[in-house]
Amino acid sequence: MTDGVPTLSLDLSTPDPVPAAGIERALELMRSGRLFRYGEDRSAGREVARLEGEVATLLGRRYGIGVNSGGSAIFVALKAIGIGPGDRVLLNGFTLAPVPGAIVHAGARPVLVECTEDLTIDLEDLERRLREGASAVLVSHMRGHVADMDAVATLCQRFDAPLVEDCAHTLGATWNGRQTGTFGVAGAFSDQTFKHVNGGEGGFLVTDDEALAAAAILYSGSYMFYGQHTARPPLEAFEPLRELIPNFSLRMSELAAAVVRPQIALVAERARGWNERYAWLVAELSAIPGIRLPRRDPREGFVGSSLQFFVDGQDGGRMERFVRTCDEHGLHVKWFGAPEPIGFTSTYEHWGYLEAALPRTRAILARLCDLRVPLALTRDDCTTIGSIVRHARETAGQPIATKRA
Ligand SMILES: *Cc1c(COP(=O)(O)O)cnc(C)c1O
Repeated sequence: MTDGVPTLSLDLSTPDPVPAAGIERALELMRSGRLFRYGEDRSAGREVARLEGEVATLLGRRYGIGVNSGGSAIFVALKAIGIGPGDRVLLNGFTLAPVPGAIVHAGARPVLVECTEDLTIDLEDLERRLREGASAVLVSHMRGHVADMDAVATLCQRFDAPLVEDCAHTLGATWNGRQTGTFGVAGAFSDQTFKHVNGGEGGFLVTDDEALAAAAILYSGSYMFYGQHTARPPLEAFEPLRELIPNFSLRMSELAAAVVRPQIALVAERARGWNERYAWLVAELSAIPGIRLPRRDPREGFVGSSLQFFVDGQDGGRMERFVRTCDEHGLHVKWFGAPEPIGFTSTYEHWGYLEAALPRTRAILARLCDLRVPLALTRDDCTTIGSIVRHARETAGQPIATKRA
């Protein structure tokens, strides 16, 4: 561009590389051909089983179950708590497409709850929906924003609704000192490339509930090899279930587990790296008139692997111009208010298979933008991003209110 505004050369969707140990192990596995987690003898795969033990330890839960995606982890958790046709499952309206998808996959009906300006589930609306009846609550810590989980858990207990957490963006994050994924009956995590550990595809769930763990292992597609799991309930727990639970074939591959395992030890270190970069971006963006960052509760121990901001005072046309100007300078901002779903970004209004009217969430998403925070991001990149956003905000037009006055 010739407007004197710098261009960002870094692609924000740059993934973080697999540690050398994971590459080595993956190569060994490929040479051996042992890519399936179960085997008919005991020399069978050990990577998924070990990863399951490691994630259970990391999260301080008794059982860990690997599956083929984060969406599958949610689906299996819902099935294992008995969710099926006729059930209403509450979830926050600000979430990613695979989350309502997992509820529908389980045969149940997603009932969306409003979100707040903090981008977390609205507790008042949650209570209202719980009063109408719910078989379960699925709280999605969308883009790493963690609600007051003590309050959410208390509400769920009061209404006797089991709580499942979608922690796709919160591996390593806490509320009030306690890790996400440990507030309800089960926590579901994703190993998809853009989450906190990168296995390409994959996911896992953690739980302390013996019957839930046994059911989840069977649903995931363990045949009669469930004994090869290490972070599992005693074999007796499987006896009453093993001939009743269908095999949904949602297993994690040995290869995915091999590349993820060395990343588990890096979760805390990576979180520090993301948070450092998040703070750099906050310093840049919070200085720009018309750009507002969501408030973060001091009890939220978030991991800043992505950053959301509001562009205030803009209508849809100006938001489009804002996004386009950023794009022209190499900054690919995702906008949750776009009329059409684009790439990963769709909102509840695009999920035509469900009915929902969420006026407050709609107004919030209309101004909400999103940036991925790769670990490759430098301090200089953040300065460039600040200049681009400032320029795009200035050229997108004056705030509507100011113009009318
Ligand atoms: C990525 C993601 C998921 C699903 O993970 P997959 O592994 O892609 O199925 C669920 N919830 C949220 C909020 C996510 O970002």
